[in-house]
Amino acid sequence: MVKEWEKGTRIVVVTSGKGGVGKTTITANLGVALARLGQRVVLIDADAGLRNLDLVLGLENRVVHTARDVLEGLCRVDQALVRDPRWKNLALLPLARGRQRLRRTREARQGLVAALVGFDWVLLDCPAGIDVGFATAIAPAKEALLVTTPEITSLRDADRVAAILESQGVENIRVLVNRLPLTVLPNRLGVQEVQEALGLEILGSLPEDPTVLSATNRGTPLVASPRLSPAALALEQAARKLLRLVPKIQSIVP
Ligand code: ADP
Ligand code: MG
Repeated sequence: MVKEWEKGTRIVVVTSGKGGVGKTTITANLGVALARLGQRVVLIDADAGLRNLDLVLGLENRVVHTARDVLEGLCRVDQALVRDPRWKNLALLPLARGRQRLRRTREARQGLVAALVGFDWVLLDCPAGIDVGFATAIAPAKEALLVTTPEITSLRDADRVAAILESQGVENIRVLVNRLPLTVLPNRLGVQEVQEALGLEILGSLPEDPTVLSATNRGTPLVASPRLSPAALALEQAARKLLRLVPKIQSIVP
């Protein structure tokens, strides 16, 4: 049965406690996978980190405006949306340049969100951790994907972020475990342990996969490769689970 929060435009924040755990990679690839499944998707880059969404998607030369320009009346939202030439129903919207502050009036933000209602999915690539940028990013979201690696430090921070998301009214939090070692190593956490530590539903798990970096360097999303690598398959499956195209699996233990 489709739940209430799954109706209409689905606004999902992709976040983590620690940085560098794979949020941008995951946002880009889930976006492409959903677009290839016929969904209208906009990816919002709310992270001023190093490897940005435009790079992972290979769209860096096409960015002209940002959401900040829209909020300040400098351009229309359709001018700021960067349409992907490969998938017509996929668009990118950078929030701001670098660490520019956003005008955060409720009206301005609601205006922007209203302009995005034509999309089935709004995926927000968030900064790691809990600062002003984080609060801005989660404000309109109804659901969250919490990315973590199977390490104690990453998990502890993820747990804190989950608590903040819940306190802000984001109750539908699911976890993506990234960079699982391919072989079972002693004293390493698996998906089961991550699930038990966080007490949240696991949407999927991605193995450590060297093709992630080469895909980023080429600007070709993993899930669009002719031969899907293990991480690409996991991302494709996660996208299908978001769409409820596959039966719910509690956890995929490697
Ligand atoms: P974040 O957005 O959380 O900072 P990124 O998506 O930029 O993280 O990923 C950080 C680095 O980790 C990048 O160099 C990326 O290529 C690499 N990476 C992410 N996921 C994987 C994976 N499953 N296997 C191998 N490398 C990965
Ligand atoms: Mg990032």
